Amino acid sequence: MVRTGQPAWEGNLLTRVVTVGDVAVGGPDPVVIAGPCAVESRAQTLELAHAVKAAGATMLRGGAFKPRTSPYDFQGLGRAGLEILAEARAATGLPVVTEVLDPRDVAMVAELADVFQIGARNMQNYPLLREVGRAGKPVLLKRHWAATLLEWLCAAEYVAVEGNLDVILCERGIRTFTHTDYNRNTLDLNVVPAVREMSFLPVVVDPSHATGVASLVPPVCFASVAAGAHGLLVEVLGERTRPEDALSDGHQSIRPSVLADVIARLRTFTPGAVAGTLA
Ligand code: PEP
Ligand code: MN
Repeated sequence: MVRTGQPAWEGNLLTRVVTVGDVAVGGPDPVVIAGPCAVESRAQTLELAHAVKAAGATMLRGGAFKPRTSPYDFQGLGRAGLEILAEARAATGLPVVTEVLDPRDVAMVAELADVFQIGARNMQNYPLLREVGRAGKPVLLKRHWAATLLEWLCAAEYVAVEGNLDVILCERGIRTFTHTDYNRNTLDLNVVPAVREMSFLPVVVDPSHATGVASLVPPVCFASVAAGAHGLLVEVLGERTRPEDALSDGHQSIRPSVLADVIARLRTFTPGAVAGTLA
């Protein structure tokens, strides 16, 4: 999984393209995976699924199992949430990316979703990594906020060693001294070209958790693609929903109208074109 000496701006030739339905992650077009942090209800999820599709997103995200810092916070709808996501996929055609927290839930998530998300907190949960490695569906592997690049790539190896090379890496910010100052995490933008030098796996960026602040998300989307990210994972809330009313991560979620604007600008702003000017 590790290679050396491949400058990021030499293109995608050595990147493994992970296909999810009609969507190619790791090809020339940046993918946009968007949706709510958590599946809160059928109405909320279906509304947002249609909204992110209309905005130009290529996959739907939404958590049915939520890894919350406090056990007293909303933990997700579980299987009912997965069924809502499956309905949203049927309604929009968007493949579904959703987090799995527990190895015992892997078969259920595989039955109803298209891509397993392994959250930052579980990046080194080796039994979970092996279980999704055996489940025959692509894995979006988030980097822990204190993991080195090598630790992250070794976590991907736990999936690969079970025979599943369809791993999409996701940088979602690391913990630094600016935590809670103006942002929730610090986006390690350097790691994007570093991944592209050292691994054949595609890499996407999650600007929502990397910043924790909705107004910072659009510029960080552009910076990520400019640095060579193969896509973005973006949290979205309803056009008229108050951020404080979302059950999780409302303040870092952008509106569908903002997402549409970001995606329209990204179409004129491809990694190949930007990287070409660097070379
Ligand atoms: C999420 O994507 O909602 C999430 C919990 O992310 P992370 O694992 O990066 O904190
Ligand atoms: Mn979230």
